[in-house]
Amino acid sequence: MERPKITLDGNEATAYVAYHVNEVIAIYPITPSSPMGEHADQWAAEGRPNIWGTVPHVVEMQSEGGASGAVHGSLQRGALTTTFTASQGLLLMIPNMYKIAGELNSTVFHVSARTLATHALSIFCDHSDVMATRGTGFALLASNSVQEAMDFALIAQAATLESRVPFLHFFDGFRISHEIQKVEQLTFDDMRAMIDDDLVRAHRERALSPDRPVIRGTAQNPDTFFQAREAANPYYLACPQIVQKAMDKFAELTGRRYHLFDYIGAPDADRVIVMMGSGAETAQETVEYLTERGEKVGVLKVRLYRPFSVEHFIQALPKTVRAIAVLDRVKEPGAAGEPLYLDVVDALEEATSKGIAQFETAPLVIGGRYGLSSKEFTPAMVKGIFDEMTKDNPKNHFTVGIKDDVTHTSIDYDPNFSTEEPSVTRAIFYGLGSDGTVSANKNSIKIIGEETENYAQGYFVYDSRKAGSLTVSHLRFGPKPIYSHYLISRANFVACHQFSFLERYDVLRVAEPGAIFLLNSPYGPDEVWDHLPRTVQRQIIDKKLRFYVIDAYKIAKEVGLGVRINTIMQTCFFSLSDIIPKDEAIKEIKNFIKKTYGKRGEEIVRMNFAAVDRALENLHEVKVPDQVTSTFDMRPPVPDEAPDFVKRVTAEMIAGRGDELPVSAFSPDGTFPTGTTQWEKRNIALEIPEWDPDTCIQCGRCVMSCPHAAIRSKVYSPDLLKDAPPTFKSTDARWRQFKGMRFTIQVSPEDCTGCGVCAHVCPA
Ligand code: SF4
Ligand code: SF4
Repeated sequence: MERPKITLDGNEATAYVAYHVNEVIAIYPITPSSPMGEHADQWAAEGRPNIWGTVPHVVEMQSEGGASGAVHGSLQRGALTTTFTASQGLLLMIPNMYKIAGELNSTVFHVSARTLATHALSIFCDHSDVMATRGTGFALLASNSVQEAMDFALIAQAATLESRVPFLHFFDGFRISHEIQKVEQLTFDDMRAMIDDDLVRAHRERALSPDRPVIRGTAQNPDTFFQAREAANPYYLACPQIVQKAMDKFAELTGRRYHLFDYIGAPDADRVIVMMGSGAETAQETVEYLTERGEKVGVLKVRLYRPFSVEHFIQALPKTVRAIAVLDRVKEPGAAGEPLYLDVVDALEEATSKGIAQFETAPLVIGGRYGLSSKEFTPAMVKGIFDEMTKDNPKNHFTVGIKDDVTHTSIDYDPNFSTEEPSVTRAIFYGLGSDGTVSANKNSIKIIGEETENYAQGYFVYDSRKAGSLTVSHLRFGPKPIYSHYLISRANFVACHQFSFLERYDVLRVAEPGAIFLLNSPYGPDEVWDHLPRTVQRQIIDKKLRFYVIDAYKIAKEVGLGVRINTIMQTCFFSLSDIIPKDEAIKEIKNFIKKTYGKRGEEIVRMNFAAVDRALENLHEVKVPDQVTSTFDMRPPVPDEAPDFVKRVTAEMIAGRGDELPVSAFSPDGTFPTGTTQWEKRNIALEIPEWDPDTCIQCGRCVMSCPHAAIRSKVYSPDLLKDAPPTFKSTDARWRQFKGMRFTIQVSPEDCTGCGVCAHVCPA
């Protein structure tokens, strides 16, 4: 059966299924799961029906604890009910999760896994939240990609109804929740085929009802609690088979076959990595690359982590395995090992004692931590782990991806190792938060994913300071499915949407030889060269880059779009990249403009159309000289007079080299010195507000509203003006209590982002 191919992110893929197979959805937003609740809320508001023709009731509670309590109550009334959450939000659900599981209620919680706050808060991904729930009695099912997030949302729903064990379906926050991929969309027929109406009826019949009165939630004493707790064992024992049955049925419908544990690699592998989450896809890509070159390696993806089936796990491993590395995306300080590692050690031990482990020799097991707080996990690291396993005494309880110079847990790897296929187009775009770069790139992926045969992937790296900060968009397109859930390190297209970035970030570090470099530049093709730092000139020459410039801000201003340069830069990308014929691309960009801006009026659409046409006329190739001629280079991230910590740590973070800082650079309890932001001067404002002392009514609104505290007011004695330069502006203070004093408002140009909020709120 032909199914639509759509381009969307993991949150939307999951919400799409969860919404259509439930009747009640209790939500409370938390990053990175919020879009799942937002989609459900919007679809319900639009009156979209589920697969039974009713519109789910979406209710926003006052906390995640409230959301899970609402789920519990709704389940007890027999409604198909779900929720979405992450991180500390999931922790708040734990008390209700014990109750929901203890009473064998069928439900699926969808979780975009996120780091728990410990020495610091982090909105990024690891599995510490999910692992904190492994004692609740929920089944834990991991999906590793956007397609799997959609597929497993349905498999989990089918399995919970049959097993009565509640499910927590999880996928990596940001990396999958916000990664855009082209996937095959499940249909209503698929959902109807997977959901057994008899099981839905059985779920309803278990509801608390005055018609069939029973008591649930009793208190029990030492005489009975223990036995009653064990009474649920058969449900957990049956659960893995039920999940496999649902996976088999799903495979018959869609052709996508999953198992509780999926092994990929050499049938006679001697080294195997065991892991779950998006990193397993990166391991798969590396394993395929290495096995093609004769290495005996493999990866075992854990799909159903709880209940853990020892038999299925052992059967899935090749008999030839001699060394197993178990990778956990979580740290449990003080534990004998991380959770998955301990399960694997125990499974091997139990299998041996039961006589079902048929290995040629008992495999050595080592455990390691990776990817905490979305730390990159790359094929180079996977290769490093396989290399470690060849040693006589490989490191146990290792870390990979960091430099641990304190307790020396980290293993080495060659960062230059790459599995990137030449058939894949890899494009990187450097933009400024809220300049439209990310939205334009999301549209570009949709255009390529939906209008061509290519597979497409988009991932966006934001600074948590959001507006006015660096955004880096990573886009891949190619003829084969894309498993690369890591950042692009070798790009054949680099676009820099802000000229000032050239002095602050090494934007061309990722450019491959022969790549295209597109720069938004106020300088034309004949003059731009002299305005580039030496490092940039050197890389353009050495890597033989094809260099193009456009003055996108000038065009945006001329057509009435202000500082919105996204449409212009997107047009240039399509014009230069040749992914789809130029005319076709222009047509699609204009279709997206109509879709995106249509409701804002004809004029906005017209301005954007004009921007597209003007972009093509004003894109110029630069004739690259063969000599570095610049008299200046990239500026240091902080001035020389900055304190030691700022120079050693903050400066590296500002320069984008935070990944290279060793463990010893940090305090063990998360303490940081204060006042370090005074050394971080971003200098990104294109326009800076100017204070007019004659019209100012001294209301202070501009000062209060500046999101960056870049505008300050002062009342002071006139004596202090005696050495002021003639250009220094001041006026009489207007307040009665400050009679005879002077008043000044000043903007700090280095901190101002040019957002214009102060001018907008000014009543004068
Ligand atoms: S434009 Fe005004 S509000 Fe915006 S950062 Fe600058 S001073 Fe602050
Ligand atoms: S908002 Fe305008 S009027 Fe009020 S203090 Fe600022 S500049 Fe003056």
